[in-house]
Amino acid sequence: ALILGIESSCDETAVAVIDGAAGTLAARVVAQRIASQDDEHRPYGGVVPEIAARAHAETLAPMVGAVLEEAGLTLDQIDAIAATAGPGLIGGVMVGLVTAKALAMAADKPLLAVNHLEGHALSARLAEPGLQFPYLLLLASGGHCQILEVRGLGQYRRLATTIDDALGEAFDKTAKILGLGFPGGPAVERMAREGDARAVPLPRPLLGSAEPHFSFAGLKSAVMRARDAGIHKPEDIAASFQQAAIDCVIDRTRRAMATSGPVTALVVAGGVAANASLRAALTALADEAGLPLVAPPPKLCTDNAAMIGWAGAERFAAGLTDPLDVLARPRWPLDPDAQPVRGAGV
Ligand code: ATP
Ligand code: MG
Ligand code: FE
Repeated sequence: ALILGIESSCDETAVAVIDGAAGTLAARVVAQRIASQDDEHRPYGGVVPEIAARAHAETLAPMVGAVLEEAGLTLDQIDAIAATAGPGLIGGVMVGLVTAKALAMAADKPLLAVNHLEGHALSARLAEPGLQFPYLLLLASGGHCQILEVRGLGQYRRLATTIDDALGEAFDKTAKILGLGFPGGPAVERMAREGDARAVPLPRPLLGSAEPHFSFAGLKSAVMRARDAGIHKPEDIAASFQQAAIDCVIDRTRRAMATSGPVTALVVAGGVAANASLRAALTALADEAGLPLVAPPPKLCTDNAAMIGWAGAERFAAGLTDPLDVLARPRWPLDPDAQPVRGAGV
């Protein structure tokens, strides 16, 4: 089936056409575009929800037309319309979902209300056609840091989450502390390449603890103290931060692997999965366990519409379409049983 996918939950406006029947990544992504709002948000040092929603509203409709044209398709030839329905910044989510509803209504096509996190979770199956359920997923993004057993479409068991900051948030805050601007993750990674990861002693919160949860707030505070001390080069602080964060992730993921059921692969997804050092460390961890590591290409890790269209294609194939009155959801955990951990959000 041909699915039109729309993503607008944060600060990328994105549209894609996905061919769910194709057998390779290249053939599955018929056409796609992404407009990043980095320039709009940069003066504020972070994403401003009102600016994001307005930018999505200006960019989205013409982008749908452009992507359909690039795909050589008319709306009539599309089988269903998929859009992120949450979680995310509600103004932006509503722009995307309402646009999808209007297109679905006008062309009389089914609507697919996609969970953005399910988009990240299934991006690995878009990139790697052979990947079978169940797999163990490290979801590391700007708003989430979780380990989930992905048992099937819509079937998630959460093994771990963060008790404070998400991993991408820790990268973004470190970037801010080091004056690297916005968005922070890629800038920290670039700077870390020039530094010595052993130069600055930094804490590794929760390392070795029995529950595989994450914590990054203490690491961020230590980065701030290291900067204020004025002894170390920023390159060394960036490299030491990245190494400490990765050490935590590897330890916590190893712990989760010990408690999960049998899986076919270790998968990493979400924006931070674009980080080359993290991918290398996870490859070694997966090797240790005799599992393949599946990491989508970096452009499918950060927010995009191909993953939303693909999740839509999987849901469409399973007959899981949604009514036109489906609501946008600012919060929407993948695991319905997920309980907050020590007061942290899900
Ligand atoms: P969520 O998916 O939880 O709703 P989001 O959609 O805002 O959050 P993503 O777009 O999936 O998040 O990921 C963005 C995050 O990934 C940002 O925090 C960014 O700094 C981080 N990131 C992107 N590239 C890298 C990189 N190369 N190294 C480290 N972090 C990175
Ligand atoms: Mg972004
Ligand atoms: Fe995301």
